[in-house]
Amino acid sequence: MVAYVILLAVPLLLPLPTSADFIWSNLTRFAQFAFWGIWWPFVVLGTALVGRFWCGLLCPEGALSEFASERGAGRAIPTWMKWSGWPVVSFVSTTVYGQLTSIYQYPKPAALLLGGSTFVAMVIGARYGKAKRVWCRFLCPVSGVFGLVGKIAPLHFRVEPAAWRRNPDQSNPQKAGVNCAPLVPIKTMQGASACHMCGRCSSHRGAIRLAWRKPASDIVHGSGRAATWWDTVLIVPVLLGLVPAALKWSSSGVFQVTRQWLIEVCLNRHWMSPLSLRLPWWILTNYPSASDVMTIVDAVALLVVIAASTALASCMFLVPLACCSFILRSRLQVLNHLAQALIPIAAASLFCGLLSLTISQLRSDGIIVPHADLLRAAAVSAAGSWSVALSFKIAGVYRRHLWRQLATRFQWRGSRCF
Ligand code: SF4
Repeated sequence: MVAYVILLAVPLLLPLPTSADFIWSNLTRFAQFAFWGIWWPFVVLGTALVGRFWCGLLCPEGALSEFASERGAGRAIPTWMKWSGWPVVSFVSTTVYGQLTSIYQYPKPAALLLGGSTFVAMVIGARYGKAKRVWCRFLCPVSGVFGLVGKIAPLHFRVEPAAWRRNPDQSNPQKAGVNCAPLVPIKTMQGASACHMCGRCSSHRGAIRLAWRKPASDIVHGSGRAATWWDTVLIVPVLLGLVPAALKWSSSGVFQVTRQWLIEVCLNRHWMSPLSLRLPWWILTNYPSASDVMTIVDAVALLVVIAASTALASCMFLVPLACCSFILRSRLQVLNHLAQALIPIAAASLFCGLLSLTISQLRSDGIIVPHADLLRAAAVSAAGSWSVALSFKIAGVYRRHLWRQLATRFQWRGSRCF
């Protein structure tokens, strides 16, 4: 928490770094690197490797929210907060807003978005639940993504139903049992998606322990079967469409062409405001001293790139998925289950896309990571192969033999296009 507050607040008091400042000599550059070069990509990687330990043990926002909740009003959680679309809505809105305000480059939008989210997490904690992490469970912008990525982790807290029934709760009846802060129904917990891996329930009734598992079996036979439409939305249009565009829009040819076309339209119609109006930094990037100002035309071109990429990913993946589910059983639930097969490639493309921030930050300071592009391509290719294998297994749950191969081929074509 101390490091979080220092890295968020102190750069606000310092002048913007120049080209002569390096990660190791300037706190603002160091904070940028810590947040976007280390924290963001490597928390995603850590979640894929060991589950959501970050959420349960290290996240300052979750800890502050629970701290506030322990001392707060303890009200009942309102129904609107339990809407399962919140993780998607909040992730999309913070991602797009972060790009409009250049969150990866400047300390003010980072402080506004991260600090603002921490503040709201504390307010929610102070109002709802008792010693719970209501924010983390229902509203946190990254909880949906971490929940999906956590499904491919080979570690989880396993519940043994037989041992649970055999061993009565030995805890003091005057005291509450295990306090699962993110409100996971421990007894019936399936998979590692909602569990924050805090370890508080470990050994409870002799029925819960940290254990290895086959990630594929959870996706194919376990929690993947209960996947929702919101999971599919988060995987396909968001992680495979919106996120790559949000990370690469400035070098996109579509952005340049759209921007040029919009400029010509504005000039032909004598609309000068979209070309010259400067909005405050908390609406659009506005740092004249760094020669970095985003006009309304730039912002519209950025939104067009993001929308186009989202639509493209939806067509490339949802159409094959719909064909597969039609062949297999013609039900939305089958489509949602099949979409779970894309979690590895979605997680790999998110991690590798974020890693490009790490690499470009290091490169600007003269540190070249050898074979970085090759390694990233290899990681995405390996994850893609895993996704194909998973789709084959999921298809096998619903139909055997020929139908399985046919359905997989549809999905494989979509992955190869991507
Ligand atoms: S299920 Fe157990 S390990 Fe997971 S978040 Fe709840 S108390 Fe922590």
